[in-house]
Amino acid sequence: MGLKRVCIRMTVVLLVLFCLYGLSALFLPEPLTESLAVLALLLASAYLFQVYRILPEAIDTRYSYILLAASCLIWAGGQVQSLLIVLQKGHQAHTAIPEYTFLLVNMLLAGAFVVVWHSLFTRRNFVQLLVDNLTILILSLLFLWQIFFRKDASSIARLAAGNTTDLMTLILDLLVCMGVFQWIVSVRSGQMAPSILLLTVSANGFALLSILQLYMKLWNYPLPTSLLDVLSVATFTGMAIGGLGRLCASGAPQPLAKISNVGLRGRWPVLLIFPASIFMLFLLNFTPTTQTPLDYSWSLLLIFLHWLISRYIQLSIENERLLALEKQNTATLEQRVAEQVKALTRLTQEDSLTSLWNRHSFIQALEQAMDEEEPLSLLLVDVDRFKIINSSYGPVAGDEVLREVARRLKEWNAGRGLLARMGADDFAVLYREPLSSAQLTNLCSELMARFQTPYKLGNNQFELSVSIGAFEQTEPTHSSGQLLQSAESALQQARSQGYGRFQIFDPLTNRDLTNGSRIELMLSKPGVEAEFQLYYQPQFALPGLELVGAESLLRWRSAEHGFIAPGYFIPLAEKSGMIVQIGTWVLREAFLQSVEWRHTHLKPLKLGVNVSPLQLDQPGFLDTVRTLLAETGADPAALDIEITETVMIRNTGEMQAVFSALRGMGFSISVDDFGSGYASLGYLSKFPFDRIKLDKSLIDSLLSPVASGALVVKSILDMSKTLGICTIAEGVEKQEQMDLLVSMGCNQLQGYLAGRPVPAGEFRRLFIQGRPQPVKIPY
Ligand code: C2E
Ligand code: CA
Ligand code: CA
Repeated sequence: MGLKRVCIRMTVVLLVLFCLYGLSALFLPEPLTESLAVLALLLASAYLFQVYRILPEAIDTRYSYILLAASCLIWAGGQVQSLLIVLQKGHQAHTAIPEYTFLLVNMLLAGAFVVVWHSLFTRRNFVQLLVDNLTILILSLLFLWQIFFRKDASSIARLAAGNTTDLMTLILDLLVCMGVFQWIVSVRSGQMAPSILLLTVSANGFALLSILQLYMKLWNYPLPTSLLDVLSVATFTGMAIGGLGRLCASGAPQPLAKISNVGLRGRWPVLLIFPASIFMLFLLNFTPTTQTPLDYSWSLLLIFLHWLISRYIQLSIENERLLALEKQNTATLEQRVAEQVKALTRLTQEDSLTSLWNRHSFIQALEQAMDEEEPLSLLLVDVDRFKIINSSYGPVAGDEVLREVARRLKEWNAGRGLLARMGADDFAVLYREPLSSAQLTNLCSELMARFQTPYKLGNNQFELSVSIGAFEQTEPTHSSGQLLQSAESALQQARSQGYGRFQIFDPLTNRDLTNGSRIELMLSKPGVEAEFQLYYQPQFALPGLELVGAESLLRWRSAEHGFIAPGYFIPLAEKSGMIVQIGTWVLREAFLQSVEWRHTHLKPLKLGVNVSPLQLDQPGFLDTVRTLLAETGADPAALDIEITETVMIRNTGEMQAVFSALRGMGFSISVDDFGSGYASLGYLSKFPFDRIKLDKSLIDSLLSPVASGALVVKSILDMSKTLGICTIAEGVEKQEQMDLLVSMGCNQLQGYLAGRPVPAGEFRRLFIQGRPQPVKIPY
């Protein structure tokens, strides 16, 4: 607002000064008038310079103002010079401004227009600008020829011969006029600011004055110098006022930017000024030359051509614009489609519950990485006890728990690997880099640590833990399935060690074992029994630790792969049904061993044999047992059948019948793995068992800080006592466990503390020879 007010004040000062000067030119003596002119010009120059200074730098036409200011200053210089001549010579007659001043001022004005042109050329349609300029140039030349030179070639020669300054001034004037015209004509859209219009018209006015002066000189008219001076000062005042107006508008969007030579608003009638002014000047008798209709028709033809070409150019510009618009629309559309495709792909790639990758996309990524022959590392993460959570608390809670697991996984992963949900409670992480065992161990430990804090959901608190199987690729793997299988086998191993454990796949011991079906194949080979051996783990009576018997445990030393743990191959054998054959072999071996012990040592050792539920299901099982007894001559009274507690849950009539038949033959029956999670004390009264084997997990819980473990063991022992069932603790590894068991009244003990499973020969050496005679077998 302040700037606007200052501009208005400056304009008023300029106008007042100019009016004073105009009046003094009429009434006052020459030197005073000249002084006023100089003052007005200096002021105009200073203002124009200010316009240049204050205009923002982004406005590239601002340099034209410094040129205008300079031209104004030089014109003032010219005035001073003529004033000095007046004062020196003392005569009153007005002296004309020197020609070189004209030339200089015109040069600067032309320079100012070049600056504006440059800006126009960089922003406007080039072809249209060229057509406009060419038309104006030809029209101007026609004008010059017809009016200025009066269609007389000799006058051109005269001007050229007389004074080069004059010729150059004429050319520059022509340029300035053309500049103004082309500007006005080329504006096809946008409104030209009045200030700019004033400025350009004033500059053009000055150029016209110069031309007029040259014309009068050329055709020997007396020069009305005073009038020309006043008009010149008027043009400079006009330029300065125009500049100030531009300054006021500098806050608003740049007027030039809005003005364009694109758009169909016809400015062509402006061009008619040329033939019209020729006609007017002819009418005013300005020039003695006569103009024929042909003279006009040239101009009119040119203007018509200009109109025609411009129309064509503008239409093609419009077409181009539409094309560009359409292209842009298509691009926007394509982008939108691409975005939607991306969103859809995400949906198909993502697991909806956890927003992790789903199994399908994970396997794709895995296969891609394998195709690119990148070394890989893989983790399979399984949520412990999830199925129990899901069935006890319902699927809604289950989903929440899974989300929580996913959240912790994401936090832990921090973008290092590709995280996916593979199944209900299985997750996987793929690293596209080889990680060493130490790195994998670190990763797994970090992940385990994330699950130390329990998860609170409503009133429930979940102790979450995960089991992890890790795989590091050390050699090329053929298929993604093989890779996953390796990690899966490591996970199985981890799981078999209990909750919250991790295991790194060991290619040496697990070579090819990863493939379950391969094991099944190996087990089904005829003569595989040759690779089997029974080990015997001693069982002792408490508290005196007298040897009472042994459990037979199967060992498989495969020719191909060496030792394979029963915890690994027995579930596979059960799955494939091979356990029936294997179990028969075990029974025969155990029966034979029992016979051998009876013959060689005459010691009534009880030998336990593990019998799979699958064997019991076989209709011919009892017959097999009878045949084996007959074949080997074994005494069932020296044999104990171990049946896992899961069998109790089934509680079928057939099972009861099988148990009764076995007992009828003379075998005793033990419930194996009692307390490992399925059966409760209630089952004990329903089945005719002779002994229960307290699972290792129960024995482990004896020493845990939670007192409930000992309570559970105590109640099982008490209940068994009431029912008259013998008890044996499995997996006793520590003296404290044994002491507690003794104090609670447990009958027997089996475990590494007292003896590990060993081959028969070693068993004899270690546990039979040089040991006290076994006590009477209590069951
Ligand atoms: P199980 O019947 O519960 O056998 C006891 C397992 O605990 C044996 O593992 C034994 O080595 C181990 N063990 C004994 N004392 C300790 C101890 O103090 N600490 C620890 N950490 N472990 C101890 P093994 O021999 O690896 O057998 C694993 C499982 O394989 C057996 O569990 C049984 O379910 C199955 N199995 C073994 N032999 C046979 C068999 O001939 N037939 C059938 N059907 N299953 C068998
Ligand atoms: Ca057992
Ligand atoms: Ca057991």
